[in-house]
Amino acid sequence: MKKLVVITGASSGFGAEIAKIFNADGFPLLLLGRRMEKLQEVATGMENVMLDSVDVTDYKQFEKAVRKAETKYGKTDLLVNNAGVMLLGNVQNQNPQEWQTMLDTNVMGVLNGTQIVLNDMRERKHGTILNMSSIAGKKTFVNHAAYVASKFGVHGLSETIREENSAKNVRIMMVAPGAAETELLTHVTSKSALKDYAAWEETMGGVVLDPKHVAETVKFMYDMPQEVNIREVDIAATRQD
Ligand code: NDP
Repeated sequence: MKKLVVITGASSGFGAEIAKIFNADGFPLLLLGRRMEKLQEVATGMENVMLDSVDVTDYKQFEKAVRKAETKYGKTDLLVNNAGVMLLGNVQNQNPQEWQTMLDTNVMGVLNGTQIVLNDMRERKHGTILNMSSIAGKKTFVNHAAYVASKFGVHGLSETIREENSAKNVRIMMVAPGAAETELLTHVTSKSALKDYAAWEETMGGVVLDPKHVAETVKFMYDMPQEVNIREVDIAATRQD
């Protein structure tokens, strides 16, 4: 059997598509997210898949789920740190709790997952951690201050972790997608930020990324030999600025 792939935020969007493409190629999966019913929908018809309702900000819960799957399928060979939230708003009046949620999920969640699998990968001198960043991890956008801070953080921590582990043959990868059609915007509470976002999407004719193309990118990066690390891919709709 192929090696275990762990995907966070697998209950919708990019994570669900990444799960489908790896499962279709015969990889056993651990799919994580908080909403079990959505994970079950994604896993319908799949073989060799474990599901666990995990909040990535809860280290112990996260670690317990990974260890349980590893008992069944062997050590994790790929962790996709994909879970994330984007709560748009202007710093002038946004609820600070929304900043906290983004930093906890998008940064702490990635650090948690990384530490949970890293030591085994270092010992085996084999393994890949792929962090889902964003074009907002490379350039700024109005109404995105805390999100941008979290995704610039993902870029910084990923590159640092890559430098710390390259000698152990562990690959740290990053994908930075542009705007895509997922559930991401459904959690935004600011009506004016949503209006601004819709106007910006119109500048690209309303054509954003299909999450399937992000999943195909992740698969392509992972499928390279362990000796080759595609460190970062930026992928966005052609019309995105
Ligand atoms: P979705 O909202 O569709 O998916 C987000 C996923 O993250 C869900 O499965 C959600 O599951 C999970 N999640 C959120 N918070 C937590 C948490 N605390 N613990 C565990 N799981 C959590 O959005 P996308 O698929 O778009 O987002 C995936 C990643 O891609 C994110 O990191 C996002 O920032 C990034 N991204 C998205 C872009 C886009 O335009 N869509 C562009 C660039 C990057 P549940 O609610 O069940 O916990």
